[in-house]
Amino acid sequence: MSATWRNWARTERCTPALSIAPKTVEQVQLAVRRAAETGHGVKPIGASHSFTAIGATDGIRIDMSNLRGLVSADAGRGRVTLWAGTHLWELPGILDPLGLALANMGDIDRQTISGATQTGTHGTGLGLGGLATAIVGLTLVTGEGEVLEIDESDRDLLDAAALSLGALGVIVTITLQCVPSFLLRAQEGTAQLREVLDNYDELARSTDHFEFFWFPHTDTVRTKFNTRLPESAGISAPSAFARWLDEEFVNNTLLEAVVNVERVVPRSIPTINRLINGVSSVRDYTDRSYRVFITNRRVRFRESEFSVPLEAVPHAVRDIEHMISRKRLNISFPIEVRNAASDSLMLSTASGRESGYIAVHRFYKEDHRLYFAEVQAIMRSYGGRPHWGKMHSLDSAYFADQYPRFGEFAAVRDRLDPHRIFVNPYLDRVLGA
Ligand SMILES: Cc1cc2nc3c(=O)[nH]c(=O)nc-3n(C[C@H](O)[C@H](O)[C@H](O)COP(=O)(O)OP(=O)(O)OC[C@H]3O[C@@H](n4cnc5c(N)ncnc54)[C@H](O)[C@@H]3O)c2cc1C
Repeated sequence: MSATWRNWARTERCTPALSIAPKTVEQVQLAVRRAAETGHGVKPIGASHSFTAIGATDGIRIDMSNLRGLVSADAGRGRVTLWAGTHLWELPGILDPLGLALANMGDIDRQTISGATQTGTHGTGLGLGGLATAIVGLTLVTGEGEVLEIDESDRDLLDAAALSLGALGVIVTITLQCVPSFLLRAQEGTAQLREVLDNYDELARSTDHFEFFWFPHTDTVRTKFNTRLPESAGISAPSAFARWLDEEFVNNTLLEAVVNVERVVPRSIPTINRLINGVSSVRDYTDRSYRVFITNRRVRFRESEFSVPLEAVPHAVRDIEHMISRKRLNISFPIEVRNAASDSLMLSTASGRESGYIAVHRFYKEDHRLYFAEVQAIMRSYGGRPHWGKMHSLDSAYFADQYPRFGEFAAVRDRLDPHRIFVNPYLDRVLGA
């Protein structure tokens, strides 16, 4: 028996029969073979930052924390091979000395490279795909305990394995295509919700990384335009104090105080949201890419996020706005809107289509169910595809219609995990048994 596991958002828990932390590929193979003999399931886990039960198991839990760091680098081609348990926050220390960086990142860097890529973690930017699109190779221990090397010479297999929800095997190494280190100029400000929605396509194409946050019950949004610059452009970052005030104090200390008040007095939410919008800062600074992409999120929340075809974004956001007022919901956390390029990965939320991402959040002590169910119904009407690591209740019948390559993925899964060593109830629901 091992200790009970809980995820970051406190939405899921489980008690694995056995938890191990292998130090070698051979130990991973042994665990998989042992599981097959004893009828247990196997689940590797990363940083437990998924909001869903995708990483839950009552079988053998593989803690990847001993398989971390750089395996090898090909600086000339901008490629690094990493142990799969490497966290994103460890990457600058590995990539900076090589003059390299990740092409794009999401909001935080707490995840492991395997957990983030397996669930389709993404940032924003129409010229770039999610993190998994940077994978050019990986090593996988299959359901038969075999070690399989996958690279671009078999593009279809790579398109299946790079983003596979942990359903094909235990990934032990990942090779990433990186880009030369770069700076980001961040321009943050406010705009009218109507204007942003009316011009969404143009705004999304106007800069390398566009996103906006809309606080429900207000007419204005926070906009973020990030532009990629060469290192020669020079850093002009806010002082440590200004950064602390804007990011740590506002995003965490103040936010936590505010959401706790709002939970007790939900009627105060519209007023407080308008106040927060009114005092939002306008910032223009340039810093190393990973420092601009990443924020520290300590206030626990629950999240649901869907990709929709890019052109559907304004309609879907307006539908959410109408739904919130129709249902008389009081929503404290902002709605986050991002975008990504179309890609070829079989289970990517941007598979075969240029995508917009709409994310909704609720403080973890609030009841999220009605809000998330209503948002899911809206997203479904636009062909929404939920982030695999964020909350939703859709199943394989829906996904078979939504993902052009769903059948191809199922065939790869039958080949690599024929005895279903890597299943759990979440995978049974979203992929079928
Ligand atoms: C505060 C916060 C902010 C976030 N921001 C973003 C964001 O900006 N963009 C975004 O897209 N997502 C975001 N997410 C979601 C998050 O990136 C993903 O859910 C991701 O899974 C987390 O990575 P992890 O290491 O915690 O994976 P875990 O949750 O630990 O695991 C996820 C899945 O990966 C599998 N897995 C892990 N390691 C391996 C391996 N070695 N081999 C095979 N399978 C493996 C697990 O079995 C499980 O199925 C955020 C989450 C939080 C809590």
